[in-house]
Amino acid sequence: MNTFCVLHYYRKFIRHVSYRKYCSASKFKDKNSIEKIRNIGILAHIDAGKTTTTERMLFYSGTIRSMGEVHHGNTVTDYMEQERQRGITITSAAVSFPWKDHQINLIDTPGHIDFTMEVEQSLAVLDGAVVVLDASAGVEAQTLTVWRQADGHRVPRILYLNKMDRTDSDVSICLNSIRDKLRVEPLLLHLPIRQEDKLIGLVDLNTLEEIIWTQGRGQHYNRRKLTEKDGQKWEKSMSLHRELIDNLSSIDDQLAEAIIQQETLENIENKLVEEALRRSTLDMKAFPILCGSSYKNIGVQTLMDAVTSYLPSPLDCNTAYQCFESDLSARAFKVQHDDQRGVLTFLRLYSGEITKGQKIYNVARDKTEQTGYLYVALADEYKPVEKVTQGNIAVVSSLKSTMTGDLVTTSAAAATRARTALTAQLRQPARADALLTPAARHKLPLDADHTPEDIADVLLGIGTTIPEPVFFCSVEPPSAGQAQALESALAELAREDPSLRVDADHDTGQLLLAGMGELHLEVIKERIVREYGIEVELGPPQISYREALVGGARVAHAVDRKVGGARQLVNLTMSAKHVKGVPQDKVLKLDKSAESASNLSHAHPRYLTAVRAGLNAALRHGPRLGCPLVDVQVTLHWLEVGRGTADSAVSAAAAHCLRKVFGEAGSVLLEPVMRLALVVPESHAARVMADLARRRADLRDVQLRHGNKVVECVAPLSELVGYSSALRTLSSGLATFTMELLSYREVPPQYEQQAVTNITGF
Ligand code: GDP
Repeated sequence: MNTFCVLHYYRKFIRHVSYRKYCSASKFKDKNSIEKIRNIGILAHIDAGKTTTTERMLFYSGTIRSMGEVHHGNTVTDYMEQERQRGITITSAAVSFPWKDHQINLIDTPGHIDFTMEVEQSLAVLDGAVVVLDASAGVEAQTLTVWRQADGHRVPRILYLNKMDRTDSDVSICLNSIRDKLRVEPLLLHLPIRQEDKLIGLVDLNTLEEIIWTQGRGQHYNRRKLTEKDGQKWEKSMSLHRELIDNLSSIDDQLAEAIIQQETLENIENKLVEEALRRSTLDMKAFPILCGSSYKNIGVQTLMDAVTSYLPSPLDCNTAYQCFESDLSARAFKVQHDDQRGVLTFLRLYSGEITKGQKIYNVARDKTEQTGYLYVALADEYKPVEKVTQGNIAVVSSLKSTMTGDLVTTSAAAATRARTALTAQLRQPARADALLTPAARHKLPLDADHTPEDIADVLLGIGTTIPEPVFFCSVEPPSAGQAQALESALAELAREDPSLRVDADHDTGQLLLAGMGELHLEVIKERIVREYGIEVELGPPQISYREALVGGARVAHAVDRKVGGARQLVNLTMSAKHVKGVPQDKVLKLDKSAESASNLSHAHPRYLTAVRAGLNAALRHGPRLGCPLVDVQVTLHWLEVGRGTADSAVSAAAAHCLRKVFGEAGSVLLEPVMRLALVVPESHAARVMADLARRRADLRDVQLRHGNKVVECVAPLSELVGYSSALRTLSSGLATFTMELLSYREVPPQYEQQAVTNITGF
């Protein structure tokens, strides 16, 4: 074992020992009452310092005994091999740690736009967030994206200006970029203190204390009240203190009242300011700004203090889930494969509790499931527990159908009770407004009136569908010997990430990978290479087109041949027509007319299964360009199978018959059409809108919000390839967008040639 391995295992052991202590029953049951819990996320542009900050938080809270460094590749949260290599965080991991009689549950959100599904899921379960900025760069493109996503979920935030040790860091430039780009009023709580150009501490602008970190790993720091004797430092701090109180009192009436009674801005009690800051942060009227340098071990403890002081407890938010009363309600925000424990599902509990081995009811999928073990998590380590209570994060094993984003409860009856209670609340317009976050509003159908029942279903995730992947590519193992290993790796990855689909092309045998974007597929490839040691090759990403029948047709098909001495005899008649939205399991119908019914009643169920297999194979390739066929209703009218005929011959005959049916009916090409939501500063709106028009976008809604245009539109995916970089250029990086599949639509005739080229390559 080399030195690295020894260190690695030592670190694991130490973490385990310290975490056991933290997770001990008494602490979990009694000490952390719900208002002492903070469920937060750290949001940042890549490289702003999210991982470094998280590692310091774990260290100062005593959860780990030594600190990893990103450039050494040994941090706790970046535990996936690929992240170690890249030094960036991709997969969410939940980490819990204690801080000053509070418990902080940190949900590590992924940082790239193509993982918006994962970011959205983790944002949906956060009560608050820390937004980390690189103080030498200010608000960057990704900051803007996650900021607007957090707006969508109404997540209260504090901002942390990291990298204050850098000589090019600048608080006032950061404040200006926060005002300009995020369009919010920042409330500066810290002033960095430098000595000979080196960052040594901060001034707390509320208490007017100087906090100086002593040498070493930053565990020790001293607070001292500033006085007039501090000269310039005092003057500057005092002026910023007055500015803080002044700004805050214009937001918070209670503080304004206290100032009026005192008739001065001086000597306002720190506690009153802190309370006003908390109220304003929870209402998202203000955003406290903290400073530090995580790498130099300065400002992390004060950041954690701010998390406990200003960010919400589970009781301050999530009121939609009160409809479950004391029943369990929890949302799955991450499904992960673990070598020893199998599939693990991370649940955020809103109400009630979950016990080991409990049965749960999945509201989205209308299914009851048996849970296995129950754990609490520290990145890649899990501690078995008997019970997890309201407000906490639980990890359960053995769930098969629960996907990221699903809501679970105790039973179907509990779900029905909750839906009824929530619907009743939603009948009051003010309550509906309070509960319907912009993100939930976005899930309601376009162009339709919404009933309280519709809104309740969206809030509870009833009938949620997994997003359809819109890009696909072929994936090849390096050798035939590794094909099996690749298939099981892909099966595991698809289970973790519902937006990833794996399929085999039955004609060519080639494996196909379908996902949400080009980078999504690229990251999956890298995970296969690093985590499973399979050097896969991906074909070029392609848009997932579909075909739909135009007319209908009916064909009788007969097979009578000898294979290896056995006679294979099949006679069958099938028809097909276009029917919108036929569910997958209802595509095949049996003809109920007297003559057909009497024939089909004699068909062996085995042969009907074989016909279904043939049908599935035929649906994979439409007659026009070989794209999958959708919205088809197939009817079986007649089936005769000779004695001794193989099932495979029946499947092949059904597939052959249907190909003839589809060919006679004819098909049109369908393309994925996306629903886009953009936020663009007014100054750049004209250019962005003109570009959207060129991309065949159909505008649905334009609103003005805080100097930004918020645009909802619908556009074909073929016009949106590479859109994120185009939008960045058009808006100088100030616009952000999210997109998801709305539906498949017929390609207009004038664009068909282009689509054919996209599919066939010529
Ligand atoms: P993430 O991508 O947001 O998780 O950022 P990381 O924590 O991986 O940090 C990115 C790079 O910035 C790494 O090389 C860190 O060592 C460095 N870094 C993080 N915090 C600081 C800081 O406070 N000061 C300086 N100078 N560098 C930092």
